[in-house]
Amino acid sequence: MPHHRTLSVPALLGAAALLLTACGGVGDAARPEGEEGVVGIAMPTQSSERWIRDGENMVAEFETRGFGTDLQYAEDVVEDQVAQIENMITRGADVLVIASIDGEALSDVLDMAASSDIPVVAYDRLIRGTEHVDYYATFDNFQVGVLQAQYIVDTLDLENQEGPFNIELFGGAPDDNNSYYFYDGAMSVLQPHIDDGTLVVRSGQTSMDQIATVRWSGANAQDRMDNLLSANYSDEELHAVLSPYDGISLGVIESLRAVGYGTEERPFPVITGQDAEVASVQSIIAGEQTQTVFKDTRALADQTVDMVEAVVNGEEVPVNDTESYDNGAKVVPSYLLEPVSVDVDNYHEILVGSGYYEESELE
Ligand code: BGC
Repeated sequence: MPHHRTLSVPALLGAAALLLTACGGVGDAARPEGEEGVVGIAMPTQSSERWIRDGENMVAEFETRGFGTDLQYAEDVVEDQVAQIENMITRGADVLVIASIDGEALSDVLDMAASSDIPVVAYDRLIRGTEHVDYYATFDNFQVGVLQAQYIVDTLDLENQEGPFNIELFGGAPDDNNSYYFYDGAMSVLQPHIDDGTLVVRSGQTSMDQIATVRWSGANAQDRMDNLLSANYSDEELHAVLSPYDGISLGVIESLRAVGYGTEERPFPVITGQDAEVASVQSIIAGEQTQTVFKDTRALADQTVDMVEAVVNGEEVPVNDTESYDNGAKVVPSYLLEPVSVDVDNYHEILVGSGYYEESELE
């Protein structure tokens, strides 16, 4: 398990780095070597499988291509992530790849990276409010929301049914830039049906500040769902839940189960998700969660390694979107991969067929 650093005082680190530099060989020996240079990889948390896979995939691919790696997880503590990045810089990282916890909190530490000429690639989540982010590798985040919402629309057959159907909406973490793209994508599909009354949000909670889920926490989502159900659904059925992430979906399902959903007479509503995590794929197979969005972390890792390699070699960096991701200081050149909607009908083909999971892992 990657170790967790708590030493965070920049001045102290600066002094330590100077000492290491002064001692020459000692500093070099402490640094994970790679012919092509060392990549500092800052990941948000190990509490969700996807980030563990992301880290493992990148380390393997970077090492295959001759890079050393310095992988750190910050367990969703913003200050720890900042400290970890400072450490990477003082230990001599040549490039940084960062999946941020709070996309707005890295300006100072990225100033520090820039003054050491260390290029920065934002991984999956955009880093905001600083010029010192060079590239962004991610999935088409707007499309993730579109896939979730379109799944609800298709499953409720809103083209042919008048409803009204009751829906509640959940958003992602308010400090994650992606959350707003997922939300905007989903609302681009749902809003017309809310406007014409086919879909009804009985709680009235439809804006991101009302529906966001701090730290993407399933427990927080479960609490909110408990409140929504007791306040709005004592005499009404809930037909759909827009959930942006599998961990949130599982929290929502527990809340629904506690008030009697999940039986033959009272099936679970349509519940979306994201990441195709094992527990959620199992839940889909069991007929509880309905859908998830698969983002192949192997492809994102490969894409990121390609981009880093090009940056390091001074070659043209592969990007396919130079318009969508304005971080408030600049438009960050991006590479967007395609997300895929997964449900009980196609999980086998998409997840097992591609070798992402072994069949036995999903039992
Ligand atoms: C990622 C999602 C993930 C979520 C929670 C987002 O930034 O894009 O894949 O579900 O964070 O970890």
